[in-house]
Amino acid sequence: AKEAGRNTVRFFDPQMQEKINAHAQVEQDLYRALERREFSLFYQPQVDAYGRCIGVEALLRWQHPQQGLIPPGRFIPVAEATGQILEIGRQVFLQACRQQAAWQASTNTAQLEIAVNVSARQFHASAFVDQVQQCLQETGANPERILIELTESILLKDINEVIGKIRALQALGLQFSLDDFGTGYSSLAYLKRLPLAQLKIDQSFVRDILTDRNDRAICRSIIALGQSMGLRVLAEGVETQAHWQLLRSDGCEEAQGYWFAKPLPLAELERWLAQHAF
Ligand code: C2E
Ligand code: CA
Ligand code: CA
Ligand code: CA
Repeated sequence: AKEAGRNTVRFFDPQMQEKINAHAQVEQDLYRALERREFSLFYQPQVDAYGRCIGVEALLRWQHPQQGLIPPGRFIPVAEATGQILEIGRQVFLQACRQQAAWQASTNTAQLEIAVNVSARQFHASAFVDQVQQCLQETGANPERILIELTESILLKDINEVIGKIRALQALGLQFSLDDFGTGYSSLAYLKRLPLAQLKIDQSFVRDILTDRNDRAICRSIIALGQSMGLRVLAEGVETQAHWQLLRSDGCEEAQGYWFAKPLPLAELERWLAQHAF
């Protein structure tokens, strides 16, 4: 009886009720946002060992008519819960393909890779492979310049299914990156079976490498592990030159972070690219 009582009380927790209301409000707003095309992509440069720009990560932004620019952390979890992520994700992928096709047409941007975040729910959807194929066809984008970033949460489903789907998309020319590596569900047994091109070191491991021996050891180990498995390793959240120097000395050859550039709207990115031509 005491247990039940406790559970009932949780229902009337005003903080939780507030959360439920906020969630419902975001869901409503997202429907309107999809209709009115309030989503856009920002692009954050990714650099090689010499600091040359080799690609960009497409990061979703929501231009809310009242609230201004809303970061994805505030609406993607809702969109994942409601399933709206499927349509949002489709629009993101289509836009990324359009951008790649546009860059392909000009010699100094033709080599740029574009990394696109795909949520587990979107990846597992039965229509995903067809959707990707359609976007490629419709835009004429070069699939070899598109990198799909997955998180370890895809591994909550059957690994054989996951591998099968990755292979089907690889057959189209796409490459795969494992985002936020080390923060989720992956075990090394899974890692060795996933046909990946890249590991991304999560910024939570990078942030304190200058002062925390354990974080530095983790970064160094991920770099060594990835490279010995033939994978590219990119460190994210690189905020200072000192961070980058340390990562470089530990063998890291790709990075992304405020030290190089913040996520930028297209016009600003193109200005940045003109100054950091490779
Ligand atoms: P993520 O994929 O790990 O993206 C990296 C996040 O780190 C971005 O936050 C980026 O703005 C931020 N960041 C970049 N450099 C630095 C740095 O030097 N220091 C710090 N402190 N942060 C840095 P953002 O844009 O707010 O995105 C948050 C998350 O939302 C992403 O994390 C990703 O999981 C998700 N997301 C973004 N766009 C999409 C999308 O199109 N689809 C899906 N499914 N998820 C997305
Ligand atoms: Ca990412
Ligand atoms: Ca990440
Ligand atoms: Ca992250």
